[in-house]
Amino acid sequence: MTTRRPFVGGNWKMHGDLARAVELTEDVSAAVASIAEAVDIEIYPPFPYLQAVGHALRGVGVAFGGQDCCPHLEGAYTGQTSPSMIADLGGNSVLVGHSERRHGLGETDDIVASKLRAGLAADLQVVLCVGETQAERDAGQAAEVVSRQVRAGFEGLDAAQARRIVIAYEPVWAIGTGVTATPADAQNAHASIRELLGSMYDAELAAAIRIIYGGSVKPGNAAELFAGPDVDGGLIGGASLKADDFAAICRAAMPS
Ligand code: PEP
Repeated sequence: MTTRRPFVGGNWKMHGDLARAVELTEDVSAAVASIAEAVDIEIYPPFPYLQAVGHALRGVGVAFGGQDCCPHLEGAYTGQTSPSMIADLGGNSVLVGHSERRHGLGETDDIVASKLRAGLAADLQVVLCVGETQAERDAGQAAEVVSRQVRAGFEGLDAAQARRIVIAYEPVWAIGTGVTATPADAQNAHASIRELLGSMYDAELAAAIRIIYGGSVKPGNAAELFAGPDVDGGLIGGASLKADDFAAICRAAMPS
């Protein structure tokens, strides 16, 4: 049986300033010190603060990454950030396909897939965010949408590349709304994604890939959301801005 190491990411979005980013990094480092031995913990600060956050994380068992990246490693792409630049600053990971980019900024499956490939080319671990909107859910299309997004992300990748991806299942209607999927709904969605990976690759690879849940995870609901056998942790927005709340969520992801 494959044992997957839990993963919890904190997506800070566009919050805070430099002083707050450093203070929050220090507070998170202290609060999760004993948990980081058992859980992969990553924080995703705004780009301008990556270097300062990386500096504050030296010697601490917490990693950091970018909230997005350019689909190209270098070139005339004004205003964009290369995944190699994230790696150059010591980051080890990048989020792609967050719903605030898919739905807020019109990023298509193809754009997300090209960012994913650029992240892999820069030797980053990539967190591929997928999830259906409320309208898609109401129309009974949730499974189809998620399956399409996963297929588009993994298309053409070999097993070694696929292993470097973490999938974040984040139903769009649950992000920042205070509404969460039920633990059973989250588990079912994750099990379907794992089944799909099994059909695209094989059972061993499907069992090795981490699938985390995102959408209004809080200290009070994290343990039950993470209890499903296919739920390997979470991607946390609002609650990652409070070190104690984020630490409590990381603690809930620890293997029992
Ligand atoms: C997110 O931004 O990925 C997220 C899950 O946000 P929140 O936890 O605030 O719903």
